[in-house]
Amino acid sequence: MRILPWLYLVGSRQFGLSSPWDCHIYALRRDHGGILLIDAGSGLANSRIIANLKAEFGDPLPPVTILVTHHHPDHAAGTAPLARELNAEVCTSDLTAPILTAGQSDNPGYPEHMVYAPCLDVRTYRPGATLDLQGFTIETIPVRGHSEDSVAFLLDGEHLFSADIVFYGGLLGLINAPGSDLTAYRQDLPKLAGRNIQGFFPSHGLFTIEDGQQHIDTALIELQKGFVPRAIGQGDLIF
Ligand SMILES: [Zn+2]
Repeated sequence: MRILPWLYLVGSRQFGLSSPWDCHIYALRRDHGGILLIDAGSGLANSRIIANLKAEFGDPLPPVTILVTHHHPDHAAGTAPLARELNAEVCTSDLTAPILTAGQSDNPGYPEHMVYAPCLDVRTYRPGATLDLQGFTIETIPVRGHSEDSVAFLLDGEHLFSADIVFYGGLLGLINAPGSDLTAYRQDLPKLAGRNIQGFFPSHGLFTIEDGQQHIDTALIELQKGFVPRAIGQGDLIF
């Protein structure tokens, strides 16, 4: 599903593109370059993700890099098999890499048949670094609060892939799970203030191609109040 001339959605629960356990999986490609995937999904529908990629980009596919936002299973459990099937390079922060390379045996809330397999070959970066992947220049912005290893990706200084950090309407990704922390949100979310972000592409729910900054600003205002801010799961947006 094409969003912009260089941006596609190739996996998603909400848009019915892959497994109900998958986050949004964005594919970036400019001109005739390689493909940059943002996250890999749960691994429960890799064949559908690959079919979606081939429908958009042809068969055989150009080279693929998978850039993982954080370690949660709906984003990362499928990384190892997807990378193997696509012969893709995997890149993630040095906060997430230890979990990716070890895999996870205990994934509460996810189907028992889901496998979070170790991904042994991972290229790492230090959060805050600027990456050049498949022709895209990406500023990495670590923002704790949803998880300790969450990183947002800022493309061309104006398009933000916000992972589960902040969602459309200013919802936070504050969840009842280890590593999710409102104090960390207060400390780190201001890193996304005042950036005049246009394209705003969270990993669940709605996205927008213009005036994305308003959703971040709404979250920042909510964080200054004395009550627990609106967060994913509190309304009908589960994930
Ligand atoms: Zn998450």
